[in-house]
Amino acid sequence: MSADLIDGKAFSSRVRGLVAAGVAELSQQGIVPGLAVVLVGEDPASEVYVRNKGIQTREAGMNSWEHKLPAEASQAALMSLIAELNADPAVHGILVQLPLPKHIDAEAVINAIDPAKDVDGFHILNVGLLGTGQKAMVPCTPLGCLMMLRDRLGDLSGLNAVVVGRSNIVGKPMAQLLLGESCTVTIAHSRTKDLPAVCRSADILVAAVGRPRMIPGDWIKTGATVIDVGINRIEDGGRTRLVGDVDFDSAVEVAGAITPVPGGVGPMTIACLLANTLTACCRANGLPEPE
Ligand code: NDP
Repeated sequence: MSADLIDGKAFSSRVRGLVAAGVAELSQQGIVPGLAVVLVGEDPASEVYVRNKGIQTREAGMNSWEHKLPAEASQAALMSLIAELNADPAVHGILVQLPLPKHIDAEAVINAIDPAKDVDGFHILNVGLLGTGQKAMVPCTPLGCLMMLRDRLGDLSGLNAVVVGRSNIVGKPMAQLLLGESCTVTIAHSRTKDLPAVCRSADILVAAVGRPRMIPGDWIKTGATVIDVGINRIEDGGRTRLVGDVDFDSAVEVAGAITPVPGGVGPMTIACLLANTLTACCRANGLPEPE
């Protein structure tokens, strides 16, 4: 048996097409959604992410601004930039690229963003809204995972979902979303006892660990749907390549469907960022939200 591939590239291009159509409709009313991305320092991976976000934002017909601060920028300078962006009516979404340099209090910065413009969904208010099942800005990576799961499985109600990883960015919001879909949710982490057995109970297995190919095929229930969030760089024959947290070659023999790395969750994350920016713009203008 070989699992179906969940094609995040194709799916994300459909989502970006829908967002672009929504943006085009708004522009007929003279409204242009705008996303401001803030980058502190010169982390090469972050620079690539920020550049890609800018390109895709403009491709969708939105305004895009990149604010680059030096690595030694003060907390006060960053807070004052956030305050400016909060007050700017042309800016509907604000994203502060993580990780921030160590001398910056990342939580204080995130919580200084206007929650209505918090398109990453990391502000404490949005976390609380999501946790209580209210209308929130939902973090982009778990939102993308949920969209792919719904597309593949339809109704998720009653399914056993295991999320491996409990970060605020991926694991916890993913678990909240799955609970919202009436799954029976288990969150596993580095202290979980008998992780293989926990994973084998999953109809839906989401891996968000950051350890290359940690989850082999024999931890996976036959026919399960596997979402691999991990992005790990490994050396392979003198070249660097990306692999997930799941051992794809053995998992594909057992799972019912699986996301590849690259080309699975990754492309959906930016598509969801654009979708969140469009949603934030509609809410700011009192217009109906896109579905
Ligand atoms: P974090 O490092 O913040 O969290 C990792 C989680 O994995 C922790 O909860 C940790 O447990 C758990 N963990 C670590 N080792 C084990 C183990 N041996 N067994 C079980 N659990 C373990 O990572 P993130 O959530 O930020 O990211 C996870 C992965 O997803 C990374 O590869 C990252 O690159 C990728 N990612 C991909 C995105 C995309 O767009 N596709 C976006 C964001 C992240 P504990 O809490 O006990 O320490």
